[in-house]
Amino acid sequence: MTRFAYARPADAADAVALVSADPDAAYLAGGTTELDLAVKDGVIAPTRLVDISRLPLHEISLIGTATTPILRIGATATMERLAAHPAVAARLPLVRLALLAGASVQLRNMATIGGNLLQRTRCRYFRDAAEPACNKRTPGSGCGAVAGPARMHAILGASPACIAAHGSDLAVALTALDALVHVRGTDGPREVPLSELYLLPGPAPDRETVLRHGELITAVDVPVPLEGTRSTYLKVRDRASYEFALASAAVAVVVRGGVITDARLALGGVATVPWRARGAEELLRGERPGDEAFRAAAEAAVRDPFTVPGTEFKVELARRTLVRALRMTTGELS
Ligand SMILES: Cc1cc2nc3c(=O)[nH]c(=O)nc-3n(C[C@H](O)[C@H](O)[C@H](O)COP(=O)(O)OP(=O)(O)OC[C@H]3O[C@@H](n4cnc5c(N)ncnc54)[C@H](O)[C@@H]3O)c2cc1C
Repeated sequence: MTRFAYARPADAADAVALVSADPDAAYLAGGTTELDLAVKDGVIAPTRLVDISRLPLHEISLIGTATTPILRIGATATMERLAAHPAVAARLPLVRLALLAGASVQLRNMATIGGNLLQRTRCRYFRDAAEPACNKRTPGSGCGAVAGPARMHAILGASPACIAAHGSDLAVALTALDALVHVRGTDGPREVPLSELYLLPGPAPDRETVLRHGELITAVDVPVPLEGTRSTYLKVRDRASYEFALASAAVAVVVRGGVITDARLALGGVATVPWRARGAEELLRGERPGDEAFRAAAEAAVRDPFTVPGTEFKVELARRTLVRALRMTTGELS
């Protein structure tokens, strides 16, 4: 078992100072990913875990104006608390559905929003310390998943260096909504659009986000969609609960006068990062809801896939998942 020091700082500034000062220190929030990797799987070996779970970063509140409300979510709010928040139930159904489709109620009561966004991939080649080839775990060692067998892996944003899929359902919904991440480092606070937080694997799959070592996520702002927006999160998986996505789609659309006036789309389970489908959104704007427009959007959303033996089926699965989610939100399917 990995031995590590444990610290419980009094405030966020102390937490940032502690992790920033030690290149092998890491934050511990709910611990549902971090402790698995460090203690059970021996995949990472932090020298110090800095517990942020009791910092006063739990608050969930509506800010902004009456016409442009924003939901501000403290980084240590749990997934279950966020799912139960009245503003989420009333105005952000895709966020609620994404949260409730994840893990189990026991895990969601521990798991935090900051930790969810920064959870590590479930790629079994990454999570198995005995597997020699994983560029994410051991840079330069290769990618065991590319040679297969692969299944829960990415077909978008993937490369011969890494096909590990991003596991967060919530991040897919929040990417579709243009969420903004508040971060604090030793240089002070800064903001990062969620769509710019994650890095494609490229030649260095071990670097997963633009965060600098020691930067702490303090909150996430989610613009509340306009009245009249219909949204959903559809997750397709091998079993009905307690399973990661094979493919998922977050959809938020506005239909006025029989025409789609706005569309926000993101895909999960099939990409190395939460996958915003902006080209597909453009195709939908101005179109009448229907399978012809939905299928064209789905083809655009899943363009130039990178498949390996075992992941070819995900091309069609991702497209059908998006078409179905669009049907559900536009009333073409109940
Ligand atoms: C069996 C199982 C099934 C699961 N199924 C799903 C699923 O279907 N869908 C899904 O989306 N997720 C799923 N998860 C993942 C789960 O949602 C995450 O483990 C959880 O959200 C992580 O949150 P945490 O607070 O426990 O983070 P931790 O484990 O404490 O931390 C995770 C990572 O984030 C870093 N970190 C945490 N908070 C911050 C912060 N504020 N600032 C900077 N860094 C931070 C930590 O250092 C660590 O690297 C599952 C997990 C398990 C164990």
